[in-house]
Amino acid sequence: MSFFEIIDPAFGKFVLGNAPVKQIATGFDWVEGPVWFGDLNCLLFSDIPNNRIMRWIPGVGTSVFREPSNFSNGHTRDRQGRLVSCEHGGRRVTRTEFDGSITVIADSYEGKRLNSPNDVIVASDGAIWFTDPHYGIATDYEGHRSEQELHCNVYRVDPSGTMQAVLTDFNCPNGLAFSPDEKKLYVADTGRMHSGDPQHIRVFSVGENWRLSGGEVFHVISPGCADGMRLDTDGNLWSSAADGVHCIAPDGHVMGKILVPETVSNLCFGGRGKHRLFITATTSVYAISLNRSGTL
Ligand code: MG
Repeated sequence: MSFFEIIDPAFGKFVLGNAPVKQIATGFDWVEGPVWFGDLNCLLFSDIPNNRIMRWIPGVGTSVFREPSNFSNGHTRDRQGRLVSCEHGGRRVTRTEFDGSITVIADSYEGKRLNSPNDVIVASDGAIWFTDPHYGIATDYEGHRSEQELHCNVYRVDPSGTMQAVLTDFNCPNGLAFSPDEKKLYVADTGRMHSGDPQHIRVFSVGENWRLSGGEVFHVISPGCADGMRLDTDGNLWSSAADGVHCIAPDGHVMGKILVPETVSNLCFGGRGKHRLFITATTSVYAISLNRSGTL
């Protein structure tokens, strides 16, 4: 069986003919938010409906890292290497300090509670950018069903702790990622499920003082939607889709696909050389080695 589909011949250089898409962990309900810790040789990811963060160690296996996790979703690491997490249940973004204590980075805006932070990235200046759709408060399945107080925005918390809504015209902002030079910001809009609202990735130019402009549609994922995404070192965007992971060139065309047998939610690069793609997909986590290196 083939583990990938080459659409643009250039994608042939990105994949390895004999490297499998390997299921490395399974038995979950909806996994999300993978983040690689090279220093600890492990992958953390959220099993959202089961309210826990799991840890996978190569050659060892999977165990519970944190339970309950406040229905955590997306994770990343800050510039010091600390874990930064989106919590549906806590309706907040937190940082796990080196001593294990939890610091709240954001839980409200202009006096109103956040919805349910979904995905998060950290820029080179240390600012934390995150999306805040309503998914984690819409039902009791992935959080606590409750009233929505704020529009679904994208926020930036600068290194001094000042928080600003930087994108306010989304239906449901979800995955987000910078280009390697941080001159572009990609943000997925996964719309309101079961409606005709947008399901696409938009691209913004990042200017002086991180000011955003533009915002045109960069790409429409099909089948499925762009929940999570990451970029490789050449600026190609790797996005979740219903049939796997799609690799999209900077001009917006699909170069190829990694085919995954379950619906993909999110992904990250890890392993030695950041050449291994870790993929969270419904009940399982998959990994494939590539002839590419990813950015964080
Ligand atoms: Mg997401």
